[in-house]
Amino acid sequence: MEESRVAFPVALWATRAGNTFTTHTAVEAGFDVYAPDLVKEYLGEYAESLGMSADELVAMGRRNPKDPDEPFNMALVAARGSSALNGVSRLHRDVSKRLFSSWYPGWPVDEVPVSHVTNGVHMPSWDSRWADELWMTAGGHGCWSGQCDLLGIRIKELPDEEIWGQRNRARQELVDYVRRCLSSEFCRHSADAETLLHVHEMLDPDALTLAFARRFTRYKRPNLLLRDPPRLLRLLTSAKHPVQLLMAGKAHTRDLQGIRLIQDMVRFTRQPRVRHRAVFLPDYDMQVAQQLVQGADVWVNTPRRPWEACGTSGMKVLVNGGINLSELDGWWAEAYSPDVGWAISDNQEEDSPEKDAVDASELYRLLEEEVIPEFYDRDPLGIPRRWINRIRTSMSQLAPNFSSNRMVRQYADELYLPASTRYQERTAHSATLARELCDWQTMIEQLWPEVRFEQVMTTVNPEVRDFEAQVYLGQLKSEFVRVEIYAEPAREEECICHPMRLKARLTDHSYLWVGSVRSRRPLEHFSMRVVPAHPHAGVPLEERHILWKYPICEKA
Ligand SMILES: *Cc1c(COP(=O)(O)O)cnc(C)c1O
Repeated sequence: MEESRVAFPVALWATRAGNTFTTHTAVEAGFDVYAPDLVKEYLGEYAESLGMSADELVAMGRRNPKDPDEPFNMALVAARGSSALNGVSRLHRDVSKRLFSSWYPGWPVDEVPVSHVTNGVHMPSWDSRWADELWMTAGGHGCWSGQCDLLGIRIKELPDEEIWGQRNRARQELVDYVRRCLSSEFCRHSADAETLLHVHEMLDPDALTLAFARRFTRYKRPNLLLRDPPRLLRLLTSAKHPVQLLMAGKAHTRDLQGIRLIQDMVRFTRQPRVRHRAVFLPDYDMQVAQQLVQGADVWVNTPRRPWEACGTSGMKVLVNGGINLSELDGWWAEAYSPDVGWAISDNQEEDSPEKDAVDASELYRLLEEEVIPEFYDRDPLGIPRRWINRIRTSMSQLAPNFSSNRMVRQYADELYLPASTRYQERTAHSATLARELCDWQTMIEQLWPEVRFEQVMTTVNPEVRDFEAQVYLGQLKSEFVRVEIYAEPAREEECICHPMRLKARLTDHSYLWVGSVRSRRPLEHFSMRVVPAHPHAGVPLEERHILWKYPICEKA
């Protein structure tokens, strides 16, 4: 506003171009909302300094700016102040489109303007020194700097023995670490000498090691593993195919349910029969996480779909040759294939005890019938060839793809660089383009109520459906709108959104648009619509009007 001497609405059009909003939650309650009076109290003065009233500022955080009771939604303000919105996984993009759809009234959910960049993790921060050696052999020094497209191909060439050796050393180190933790923990709680001796018999460096570590909150469903304690007990105490379970996690201090979930787990691990096979590590933090992701054979994740926006802990095991066994939620919904790990889920999304029971039973079944047998399927040299193949595929296909290398590049290419270009275009020459866009929007706001369909028709020729629309625009210029033929996606049918061509000006304020669509879909599937158009504006992100026409008549 100061630099270009423009009013707030123009400055918003200009600066918005350089902002992007990344949403990180999959639940409505994750967005902070404030009472209008509170916002007015604290931001009233600021609003005035921008040349607007406190009410106008509050209106920016409302779906319906005119509703005085609607609270001020921070995510909505962020969206109104940005020229691109993105979620953090493909599934989360679709969830966000649904969450935000009421911000774009009249627009199909598919067209709610949210894209996605799936998270990635910084691999060198999470790999064990053994894994680091492997990657170094494959990709050379600094292999995680810059682009790592070829890294996946190179890691594929490593021999089974090297991969397996790395896994065994990392698992041993994890077992040592847990024993050390437990000794100091027992010392702190002044355990007797017998218990301390016992620590050195806990866990087995050769046993299949499952890890479960995360924030303990309801949607993460940490109790899924515990749903059938005798069944879990049988798995853990098998003499032939021993399995051990390492758990860690924290709950919010006010989340009583989460705290209870931790207590249940701790109680389970204290039973004499599983003490040496199941451990709950206290004080989950990045250090504990590092140890767990380096040594675990299988990373277990059981969130309630679709509540996990992305999930990153499972990505941290990829670089170490750990395998994911997870609900098809967040990143796993796009990363999973049968040769890289295991998936729980039938793609259903419901919050019920029945669904939890189904998922728990699938989790146990996968462990019993697939995970454990494959891990213990050894050749005469004691090497689990199928398991190693799975590790190799997971490392080569997933690790580079879910690294921050890929993520940062994607943010730069798809979001930040285009935003930077847009910002420069809109602010150049004293913000000429921003002023033009602001005027364009003012015109649309004022004149939109006049816009209407006067007559719409269609004729069917073999293969092709021709459409005609006579649209009244009032004072609005015809280049300020687009008229489109639309059919929503239906079973086996893709969405059709076809721009019509301006054919003639019929009267001062009426225009004829025409268009043809090659489709055999029935007429009831089609509608027409008028939407605002400007080559430099984001529609519907920055301008949300839309006018529909349905049904369309067949020409006699
Ligand atoms: C990676 C990590 C998380 C996040 O894990 P999610 O799977 O995304 O929930 C939380 N806490 C710690 C200590 C971590 O290392």
